[in-house]
Amino acid sequence: MDKIQMTTPLVEMDGDEMTRIIWQQIKDTLILPYVELKTEYYDLGLPEREKTGDQVTIEAANAIDRYGVGVKCATITPNAQRVEEYKLSQMWKSPNGTIRAILDGTVFRAPIMVKGISPVVKNWKKPITIARHAYGDVYRAAEMRVEGPGTAKLVFVDGNGKTTEQTIFDFHGDGVLQGQYNLDSSILSFARSCFQYALDTKQDLWFSTKDTISKQYDHHFKDIFSEIYEDEYKEQFEKHGLTYFYTLIDDAVARVIRSEGGYIWACKNYDGDVMSDMVSTAFGSLAMMTSVLVSPDGKYEYEAAHGTVTRHYYRHLKGEQTSTNPMATLFAWTGALAKRGELDGNEALVEFAHRLEQAAIDTIESGVMTGDLAGLWEGESPAQRATTQGFLDAVASRL
Ligand code: NAP
Ligand code: MG
Repeated sequence: MDKIQMTTPLVEMDGDEMTRIIWQQIKDTLILPYVELKTEYYDLGLPEREKTGDQVTIEAANAIDRYGVGVKCATITPNAQRVEEYKLSQMWKSPNGTIRAILDGTVFRAPIMVKGISPVVKNWKKPITIARHAYGDVYRAAEMRVEGPGTAKLVFVDGNGKTTEQTIFDFHGDGVLQGQYNLDSSILSFARSCFQYALDTKQDLWFSTKDTISKQYDHHFKDIFSEIYEDEYKEQFEKHGLTYFYTLIDDAVARVIRSEGGYIWACKNYDGDVMSDMVSTAFGSLAMMTSVLVSPDGKYEYEAAHGTVTRHYYRHLKGEQTSTNPMATLFAWTGALAKRGELDGNEALVEFAHRLEQAAIDTIESGVMTGDLAGLWEGESPAQRATTQGFLDAVASRL
């Protein structure tokens, strides 16, 4: 069989620990035998970030901007213990944070669903994708502990020195204070990324805030979404039979639980943080959660939602066979290959990516899976627990 050819390279970002091992296994077992893989390779493993003073991360992000599609392995975000372990000259910033700051945009997280592993919420039949705005609000707030009595004010000094102020509260006793902000430019790109992703994946878009209480702040998010929808996306949504639906966050929570799934739920930063943990846990496993960063101008970076699975890596280093789940990393590859194929008009590549995903899902549904899923399995025959390589080989034989 001839290998599938590629025209434009993918930006390939290698990573750390167990996921770095899985990265190579996936390529060797499931991609290189079938695809004449073209990538521009960046090693974002911690030793290379240290060696290049983290320049490699910036170069990788710029390459995604140039080529439009990247695939990233999980990477270590160093803390004090990692500085010691890897003898680092600095506590390098999170690569995901660096890439997000360069590309801008929104992170979309969706579960991979398989028969035999059911969501905790029994009426969820299709995936629910959370789109989380990842800028500002409580994550960039100024906070203060105050001792009353006293008066708290919101003061804004504009570029000409003109002051606008408003009393927050006349404290008669002690208390706490917080000031948050966001930017129109960031909310606009959040909105565009959400509408664009909904169109790409042909799913309805829901958006929720607390605008009844937050009449300026949250209402402004609602207004921006509504304007962008009317001016730029309504026609295309209607053409594809898609809906944009705004509702209050409390109403959204109730509707999500009662729904069948199959839509994108856009959330403000804090709501997205909390709701994505709830939704992913209710769907089953972190190792089955995909993640893609979509920039407002349509650049895509695919990854797994989980980290480098350190505990498994230490067992691997001792020579033990691990049963680490490669699904989310595999789906990062197939997501990126399919998107590359779509942008290049390369049908064979798109088809290959979809077949590979189906082979992986069929393998689990046939009862062969890694240890993390075996405990959740509700299929008729008992689960056959596979090593990572054993699971990938089973996928390859189906493919
Ligand atoms: P983690 O790597 O996601 O692992 C947490 C635990 O979840 C694992 O110990 C394992 O549980 C289970 N798990 C996660 N992925 C799994 C998989 N594919 N198969 C089977 N089990 C899986 O999170 P962490 O331990 O908090 O972080 C480890 C490193 O990853 C840190 O250095 C962190 O900075 C980095 N990180 C990177 C990213 C990223 O690059 N996107 C995201 C998060 C964390 P058991 O051990 O109980 O089996
Ligand atoms: Mg969280």
